[in-house]
Amino acid sequence: MTTRTNADVVVIGGGILGASIAWHLARAGVTDTVVVERNEVASGATAYTAGLVSLARTNRDALAMVRCTLGAIAELEASLGYSVGFHRTGTMRVAENGETSDGLENMVRLLSSTGIESRIIDGESAREMVPWLDSAVAHSIIHVAEDGYVDGHMLTSAYMRAARNAGVTLWTRTSALSVVRSGERIVGVETTRGRIGCKWLVDAAGTWAGDVLRWFGVELGAAPLRSHYWISAPVEERWRDIPVVFLPDARAYLRREGDGLLVGIQESVSRAFDARRLPADMSELTLTGEEDWELLANHAPRIRRCFPDFDELRYAHHIAGLTTYTPDGELLLGTFPGVEGLLLAGGCCGKGVSVSGGVGRIVADRILGHSALVDLDRLRPDRFGTDDPHSEAFVARCVDARANKGRRA
Ligand SMILES: Cc1cc2nc3c(=O)[nH]c(=O)nc-3n(C[C@H](O)[C@H](O)[C@H](O)COP(=O)(O)OP(=O)(O)OC[C@H]3O[C@@H](n4cnc5c(N)ncnc54)[C@H](O)[C@@H]3O)c2cc1C
Repeated sequence: MTTRTNADVVVIGGGILGASIAWHLARAGVTDTVVVERNEVASGATAYTAGLVSLARTNRDALAMVRCTLGAIAELEASLGYSVGFHRTGTMRVAENGETSDGLENMVRLLSSTGIESRIIDGESAREMVPWLDSAVAHSIIHVAEDGYVDGHMLTSAYMRAARNAGVTLWTRTSALSVVRSGERIVGVETTRGRIGCKWLVDAAGTWAGDVLRWFGVELGAAPLRSHYWISAPVEERWRDIPVVFLPDARAYLRREGDGLLVGIQESVSRAFDARRLPADMSELTLTGEEDWELLANHAPRIRRCFPDFDELRYAHHIAGLTTYTPDGELLLGTFPGVEGLLLAGGCCGKGVSVSGGVGRIVADRILGHSALVDLDRLRPDRFGTDDPHSEAFVARCVDARANKGRRA
């Protein structure tokens, strides 16, 4: 047991965001940081992620954040001297109608304006990359070479390893229990290892971030929703050696996983959970069941339009976890009026891995008083005012935001 009783910054949560924040702080010279994680590193939502990292976004701020993640990956690999599990496969998006096509063309324009290479490709080039694709259904197809996917556990461990190398302390198997305040100021946190004094408390507790906020009488403006995907049994190499393929009109994505394919679908109505009644360990939730096979079967006709042999896939795994969604699909990032020293980094909306680099940098900049990478006003954690996030109406807005993901990525 440690004897540490003080730190400049305490970060609650050793998921990808907590780890990135710790590393970005250390990189900026704030090494007097303690990360408090009640289970193990990357054991929350990060353990279940599909790990897609794509620059193809509809707004500049999200793009800037993903760019930071790719920059962080390169820097971590150079400094640690090993791979952090990023596969630069590129991504391909297939539009099946004019409206989706317009959206993709806007993405290409946005990427070009920021110097990122992306191209509209013809059906033949697409089939060379993805032999199972029926490109005849495509209205247009775009390809972004810098994109790919990453092993969420490996990247989190790398952020954490680099942070610890620089002097950051990690406490695993340690729960943060309550806050210690002096007037409006946070002065410390009670943990299962005892009290630790701090100047800043960062709530990076993922799906449980609301539990921490409730210490301050504040609610998290987001709902925990189920995200899930299937992993197929091995397929022939030419079928799996592909870029990440997004089929926005079929509401699906596919990428290689091991010797098989990973198939994710975007449900129009995701299962929602009560944030106040979650177990401390996500693995204790039953998130998959027999009925999900019917869900996949019902979704299959949409995917078959682009992947006529889709039914040949046999499945080995069905993976599910919870992610927090906000009603507008944007993160919750920043401070709260009347609470000095608290920063929230949450409301990831299924993109926490891809924006992790940006979130880490923004939090470090905020603590150091530097100007922000993006317009933080749009991400203010109190922007939903007094709306009750546990009400049916609020949760329904979060479910809608998830259903429309990709249209405003
Ligand atoms: C199935 C699935 C697929 C996904 N696919 C993608 C994708 O392709 N691309 C992408 O970018 N994102 C994806 N996501 C989303 C992404 O995984 C999450 O946004 C991200 O992992 C969230 O990271 P986090 O650090 O905020 O939360 P978490 O990983 O959940 O970490 C929070 C941590 O806080 C700890 N904690 C909570 N309360 C306390 C406490 N009181 N004391 C101490 N510790 C505490 C928890 O134990 C946990 O480890 C996916 C998610 C799922 C479930």
